[in-house]
Amino acid sequence: MASITLSNIVKRYGDGFPAVNDVSIDIADGEFMILVGPSGCGKSTLLRMIVGLEDITSGDMKIGDRRVNDLAPRDRNLAMVFQNYALYPHLTVYENIAFPLRLAKKPDDEVDRLVRDAAGTLELTEHLDRKPGNLSGGQRQRVAMGRAIVRQADAFLFDEPLSNLDAKLRGQMRTEIARLQKRLGITTVYVTHDQTEAMTLGTRVAVLKKGLLQQLATPRELYENP
Ligand code: ADP
Ligand code: ADP
Repeated sequence: MASITLSNIVKRYGDGFPAVNDVSIDIADGEFMILVGPSGCGKSTLLRMIVGLEDITSGDMKIGDRRVNDLAPRDRNLAMVFQNYALYPHLTVYENIAFPLRLAKKPDDEVDRLVRDAAGTLELTEHLDRKPGNLSGGQRQRVAMGRAIVRQADAFLFDEPLSNLDAKLRGQMRTEIARLQKRLGITTVYVTHDQTEAMTLGTRVAVLKKGLLQQLATPRELYENP
């Protein structure tokens, strides 16, 4: 686990107005930080720069004490949880969770220990032999998080993970993600355009508008002083 420090981050595509304009945010170790704002405000760009999928035009980015500006995504030790969960339909839940460990050629006994630990935390133990196609949306989301957990990543990053779900499931998943994040205590950055998610999930909310950081506050402060 680690803090994430963004200092004067700028992203320019071409020579237009910056997509992200001088944004500084200190995300504490274990914090659940929301990035919220209307479409086009720069939140996905900011998240992609944290993951390393997009270059930073200027500014400094640190994960813990490490400056990561020039580090490749695989060297940043972060886990992105995608909107479509990106599970392998032909693999069991066990093998889906184990996937990053297989890639890293970890020994079988270590794989088994890490997968069963994660499955226990996520209440997936009795589903380990099933395939993703037979799981509920909530269970699939937990498998995706299990894969992130076994990598022992320093932080979770979510890009609108609930936007394809219907309202009922979205509500359930919101509760589930908040509960898991609290239990794991893992630093989390979560992009959404949904005010309800922003106000219920995060320990703090960063409101972006046209690339600028407009507000950085707790949900309570935003509620009392919108
Ligand atoms: P959001 O996630 O808040 O909807 P984005 O980060 O996707 O916003 O986009 C911020 C701004 O940057 C928008 O004006 C968008 O059109 C522009 N943008 C995003 N990605 C690219 C790109 N690959 N090339 C050029 N402009 C881009
Ligand atoms: P989102 O708002 O969820 O990021 P978009 O539909 O805005 O999705 O963008 C989809 C993809 O197109 C993103 O990967 C983004 O980087 C890219 N993109 C967005 N705006 C532009 C743009 N003006 N020029 C080029 N690519 C863009």
